[in-house]
Amino acid sequence: MKTGILSALGEGFLDLIYPSNIYCISCGNIIDDSRPYALCDTCVRTLKWANGRTCGRCGKPLQENYGPSLCTDCTDTEHSFEKGFTCVEYCAAERELLHRFKYKDKAYLGRKLAEIMFDRIRIEELEPDLILPVPMFRRKVKQRGYNQAEVVAKCLANYMECSYAGKLLVRIVETEAMSGLGALGRRRNIQEVFSVPRDKTDQVTGKRILLVDDIYTTGSTADACASVLLEAGAATVFVLTFASGANLMRTENNCVNQSTKGYIQIKY
Ligand SMILES: [Zn+2]
Ligand SMILES: [Zn+2]
Repeated sequence: MKTGILSALGEGFLDLIYPSNIYCISCGNIIDDSRPYALCDTCVRTLKWANGRTCGRCGKPLQENYGPSLCTDCTDTEHSFEKGFTCVEYCAAERELLHRFKYKDKAYLGRKLAEIMFDRIRIEELEPDLILPVPMFRRKVKQRGYNQAEVVAKCLANYMECSYAGKLLVRIVETEAMSGLGALGRRRNIQEVFSVPRDKTDQVTGKRILLVDDIYTTGSTADACASVLLEAGAATVFVLTFASGANLMRTENNCVNQSTKGYIQIKY
């Protein structure tokens, strides 16, 4: 039903239910409508923007005193995707924001997250042919009302004026929750989970694909999706997420508050 309302009435209707640019999307405080991404000044400063050093492969933020150009994961693991990009490091405020987006019926938050992701990705001049969300198992979409990656990917495709292809990649196996699993467990858990339907492979052939998800952790999901797309003939797969887990060298308590310089300034 919720999905029905979303797709049938579109964003204009959502604006009536959830007036945008009135409440901060992170803390809920009242703001004026000139604030970028509907974030209050405090939250702009609190979010850990990934605008310092990042891993040259997956885009995960690297701590200043960490020497290598690749994060510890990418040093150990070969990825099937070409390159990853992310907007913020996943710490307390980011977790809270994504939790509200995922579980509390706040699909409209997706539009704001997509604005942030758009500003992040447009400086890369990737020019993908297709934007795809990481798919969710059908039953889970029904339970939750929407796939959060799909909400964001659709908005992003709109902003980027790029084709959205939500049905080219499907999740054929329902997986257990990944949160308690380590890197190896995540890789095992996600094998043979995704598929490109046989009658759709010609739509993938030769395409530059931008895969969209809300969070990047070890890259096992992104890799599983990318390898299936590459097998189906995709030319290359890039990955864009709103948040990324910290490089393993860094503990969560150790998150450094980044300045707000960088791509957020595009909006000021
Ligand atoms: Zn706020
Ligand atoms: Zn990396």
